[in-house]
Amino acid sequence: SDPRTAAHDADTHDLIRVQGARQNNLKDISVEIPKRRLSVFTGVSGSGKSSLVFGTIAAESRRLIDETYSTFIQGFMPSLPRPEVDAMEGLTTAILVDQERLGANPRSTLGTVTDGHAMLRQLFSRLGTPHIGGPTAFSFNIPTTKVGGVSVTESGKKNVIKQEIYLGGMCPACEGRGVVSDLDLGAIVDESKSLNEGAILVPGYKADGWMVKGFSETGLLDGDKPIEDYTETERHDFLYKEKGKIKALGMNMTYQGLIPKLRESIFSKDPEQLQPHIKAFVERAAVFAPCPTCDGTRLNASARSSKIRGLDIGEVCAMQVTDLAEWLRGIEDPGVAPLIGSLLHLCDSMTEIGLGYLSLDRPSGTLSGGEAQRTKMVRHLGSALTDVTYVFDEPTVGLHPHDIQRMNKLLLDLRDKGNTVLVVEHKPETIAIADHVVDLGPGAGSEGGTICYEGSYEGLAAADTLTGRHLGHRASLKETVRTPKGHLEIRGARSHNLRDVDVDIPLGVLTVVTGVAGSGKSSLIHGSLGSASGAAGADVEFVDQSAIKGSRRSNPATYTGLLEPIRKAFAKANDVKPALFSANSEGACPTCKGNGMIYTELGFMETVASPCEDCGGKRFQPLVLEYRLAGLNIAEVLDLSVATAHAFFSEGESKVPAAAKILERMSDVGLGYLKLGQPLNTLSGGERQRIKLAMHLGEKGGTYVLDEPTTGLHLADVDNLLALLDQLVDAGKSVIVIEHHQAVMAHADWIIDLGPGAGHDGGLVVFEGTPAELVAKKSTLTGEHLAAYVG
Ligand code: ADP
Ligand code: ADP
Ligand code: ZN
Ligand code: ZN
Repeated sequence: SDPRTAAHDADTHDLIRVQGARQNNLKDISVEIPKRRLSVFTGVSGSGKSSLVFGTIAAESRRLIDETYSTFIQGFMPSLPRPEVDAMEGLTTAILVDQERLGANPRSTLGTVTDGHAMLRQLFSRLGTPHIGGPTAFSFNIPTTKVGGVSVTESGKKNVIKQEIYLGGMCPACEGRGVVSDLDLGAIVDESKSLNEGAILVPGYKADGWMVKGFSETGLLDGDKPIEDYTETERHDFLYKEKGKIKALGMNMTYQGLIPKLRESIFSKDPEQLQPHIKAFVERAAVFAPCPTCDGTRLNASARSSKIRGLDIGEVCAMQVTDLAEWLRGIEDPGVAPLIGSLLHLCDSMTEIGLGYLSLDRPSGTLSGGEAQRTKMVRHLGSALTDVTYVFDEPTVGLHPHDIQRMNKLLLDLRDKGNTVLVVEHKPETIAIADHVVDLGPGAGSEGGTICYEGSYEGLAAADTLTGRHLGHRASLKETVRTPKGHLEIRGARSHNLRDVDVDIPLGVLTVVTGVAGSGKSSLIHGSLGSASGAAGADVEFVDQSAIKGSRRSNPATYTGLLEPIRKAFAKANDVKPALFSANSEGACPTCKGNGMIYTELGFMETVASPCEDCGGKRFQPLVLEYRLAGLNIAEVLDLSVATAHAFFSEGESKVPAAAKILERMSDVGLGYLKLGQPLNTLSGGERQRIKLAMHLGEKGGTYVLDEPTTGLHLADVDNLLALLDQLVDAGKSVIVIEHHQAVMAHADWIIDLGPGAGHDGGLVVFEGTPAELVAKKSTLTGEHLAAYVG
């Protein structure tokens, strides 16, 4: 046979080939990726890395797998659109390991999602004494009732039990949730005040309003006496008396104590439906307390009576994973050796990946994005599957430079098991271990979407691309740091692992909070700062990466308020109503109601979206599109990038200063490439955070907390972020950043370093001072890494 054909076959076998990819901003690119190797995709934010890796390669793999199901089953599945690409070869099954959180299902814990809990139930059913039953006897998701009860599956679905089942381990008082809801009285009533002085802190209960008179003018209570001076009876009548008739002022009236009244009114409503200030009150006042019956273990008494080495399953699940491993090593029964082996493998993988400080009873919904991603990774490390394509989205998120080495080792291990590993990543430490690098760019959005470099890491370091030039880039320490204008005092912080921490956070400067994953940074900043600032009278704004609530019609233009001045300008230029130019009112395409997409709800599966055929995704009625401003119609304006729109609205007959101002702030946060009409739900976490930040740029003063703002940012983007942070501080704001990025640390005015380790080995402030002092002392892990970096 023709030797060239044979060579070609061998090639195809070892390569994933992508030909003519045009998804989102990709410019008809072709690329070949070696199989069973580690490839890293680099490029500035918005250059097209996700469009290539997730939107094209992983999407097509998933679509091809779906196609292998019978047409009958496919009829029930959403039909995934084919990515915009001419041809693909050599794909294998793709598994996505992303930063999506693990959902807020209260029955799901780190133990249930990793199978660690199932293995521990096995262990207790074999070795626990007294012996109380099979593995289900230790499950907090299975009730104690035998017949006629209700069992609850992990997804919360209830099943009526019609036949005999094993007795489960669920605590009957909290139904296995481990918490009961409670009200924080201090947030509802100020006991030092009288009713007439405004003792009731609930929105809508004004001291002289009729809601308060319902208490102060009943004759039951004295409106001028501070609540703390009430007798037992008065206090009970005020707070807890159940609804009933009383005689007051000579009339029969209905009276109900404050707490039952609130439970019946605002606390029984869906918080999402409440006005923002009432919702904020509910979040302050409704607290969860550990269930007193099971001490928060979710388990009934009989499940907790059975012990191994002196501990019950609840106590074992509450240990941090590194301690759990020690406890398991002490079990020497050969009958359970394989089970112990699997459990130890799980614990060791978790520790290797930087999750050793977590406990298996941790509700999975409370894990951060990076922790969720590493948890998913643990599930795959144990897998016997090979020749899979693993796709990672910035696996180093949330990791200190010290933790990155361990993450790198795991990525290499996955490769060495015969898998293809594709990683979108910016950190030089991880780019350095790549067998193959694909660098996208040169810019973002329409200025990106091409391949600037592909080849070895050594080649990249020598290549004249933005990434290549930045690889050897080293930040230097600032010559001078700013002087603080005061301090936020945190005293005796003890939430989670914090060990009675006292710390002063300087105001009016850039403060960076660092420390290894699990050292207590979020616990300190999110847990303690809110209350400290309340006392200091400062308003703290948390600018995070969480999803932005809104309808499917929301986009950067609607979210930032940009659409308002634009609509008005269109209306004025055409002498028609502004409402016509909004995709959620009369100008909307009636078929898709302004969504541009038709959404088909399948009930039991993901909703399917397909472009609206009537408006071609433009979202407006044809008539509306005939109105123009300086030659463009509203759909064309919404299709502009922020940078182009900024130029458009800055001068000439389309000059709209209010719009230009908002667009300038969006450019300042590095979103110049974003299209005005791009649905908000397609933005990455980093983009969401930056758009929120843009909204605050115009405000005066204030304290801003940013959690890992370099997520999703290329080294070149990080320079822009630092300029932006400087701009905020120079405008009089206090900026507190939780970060691991050395360039950001070097740029700080003040560093607070937590540690020394994670979980119970952390929780202390191990250094506070300037970056120069941190480097000079080298007394902490962060100090060592920063010293090496600025070298
Ligand atoms: P990166 O991963 O390099 O940050 P992306 O692939 O996410 O870049 O984005 C490349 C370009 O495509 C950007 O301009 C982005 O705004 C745009 N984009 C990304 N997702 C979508 C989408 N679902 N619909 C429209 N445009 C998108
Ligand atoms: P960092 O932000 O430095 O990564 P965290 O503050 O998230 O660290 O975690 C510090 C410790 O507190 C860890 O042991 C972690 O498991 C624990 N912790 C954090 N959040 C919670 C939570 N919601 N419930 C229970 N424990 C938590
Ligand atoms: Zn309970
Ligand atoms: Zn339509």
